[in-house]
Amino acid sequence: MDLTYSTAHEAFRARVKTFLEGWPLKGAEAERPLAEQEAIFRNRGIEAGFVYRHVPKRYGGSEQPRDAIEDQIIQEEFYRAGAPRDLTSQGAGMLVPTLLEFGTEAQKARYIPPALRGEESWCQGYSEPGSGSDLASLQCQARLEGDEWVLKGQKIWTSGAQRAHMMFGLFRTEPNAKKHEGISYLLVPMNTKGIEVRPLREMTGGYEFNEVFFDDARIPADHIVAARGQGWQVSRATLVHERNLIGNPFMMREAFQDLVELARSRRRNGRPAIEDPSVRQRLAEIEGYVRASETSNLRQFSAAQRGEMAKVMRPVLMNKVFSTDTMQRIARCAYDLIGGDGVLAPQEEELHGWGRRSTPSGWVLQYIFSMGPAIAGGATNIQLNIIGERGYGLPRDLHRGK
Ligand SMILES: Cc1cc2nc3c(=O)[nH]c(=O)nc-3n(C[C@H](O)[C@H](O)[C@H](O)COP(=O)(O)OP(=O)(O)OC[C@H]3O[C@@H](n4cnc5c(N)ncnc54)[C@H](O)[C@@H]3O)c2cc1C
Repeated sequence: MDLTYSTAHEAFRARVKTFLEGWPLKGAEAERPLAEQEAIFRNRGIEAGFVYRHVPKRYGGSEQPRDAIEDQIIQEEFYRAGAPRDLTSQGAGMLVPTLLEFGTEAQKARYIPPALRGEESWCQGYSEPGSGSDLASLQCQARLEGDEWVLKGQKIWTSGAQRAHMMFGLFRTEPNAKKHEGISYLLVPMNTKGIEVRPLREMTGGYEFNEVFFDDARIPADHIVAARGQGWQVSRATLVHERNLIGNPFMMREAFQDLVELARSRRRNGRPAIEDPSVRQRLAEIEGYVRASETSNLRQFSAAQRGEMAKVMRPVLMNKVFSTDTMQRIARCAYDLIGGDGVLAPQEEELHGWGRRSTPSGWVLQYIFSMGPAIAGGATNIQLNIIGERGYGLPRDLHRGK
């Protein structure tokens, strides 16, 4: 593995860094709400060719030639600068790549541009009260009547449904087919008559999750991605993007640096906590995980460059578990460092997103939040099953795949 960058790529990095001097925004723009600031910056990123690089221009992307090294440099520098990235929402991060792979020309033209600009937001309607890990058992129905799908049933844990304009969801359209073959992937406008969203309160005190009820809600028949009964294959593509969003070494490095700062600022036995040998040992152990993840990422990246992804299948399968486990270690260590401040309730403005790590209550929120990604997008036990079965050829879990 050669870890040096070519002169041309170092010049590219310099261009990215220059562009990133524009974040945070300055002057009057800095007074606007954060979501608007991010949208302004992302649109500049599209013009500069650094954001949505693989989305064609006709759908609002910047359509750059594929270059995995440039992608890596952009990721590194955007994380370092704390700048808004392109893969952060369910619309841009999950739906867009799925539509690029499976959508019709009309669907791509209609849905991708507003999702990229952040003008139309999306939620993911997969889980149901009895169907989470065993998602293929889902029961929420869509029945074709004339030129409309009629939706009936319930979804749960639907993040952001209370704000979303649209849902990409899985519905049972072929009740007599085998469970994986009876599912279709539908695009549902959330303002459709017959849809009710009920927020669920989380242990953070915030409301990000929802139940979504469908009571004979009618949507046009062409709001289906791929053919009837192919929703399972389509959803696998979305899930890969979701797991990639969760498993990310740059996110770990950023959180670890915040943890080190925290250890510098807190005091133990009358001196900075970072000087305490037991704290240093814990930090060193966690940094070992962060470095292992960075190295694994480089290994996967260099295998991708050589077209040898099959050789790194096990590390790829391990990305999500490794990342969520490390983020939990970081949050747990911070929680111990803040001691009595751990009883502080998160502030209202901290409840959005993943929690800022600059205050003790922000770390409390980080600690609580760190449990979620280990469940979302496929719980850790299920990921371990997948690693065992697909990565190591172990016998199939008796409880799955019936
Ligand atoms: C932060 C967060 C955001 C989410 N956002 C969304 C969203 O936007 N849209 C959406 O559709 N869903 C969302 N979910 C739901 C998520 O996909 C499910 O919670 C997840 O798939 C697990 O399903 P479940 O909650 O029904 O748990 P269950 O499937 O009931 O699992 C409970 C426990 O049993 C274990 N288990 C289950 N089966 C097996 C097995 N065969 N072998 C070993 N262990 C097993 C699991 O690992 C878990 O520990 C979100 C969840 C979280 C935490």
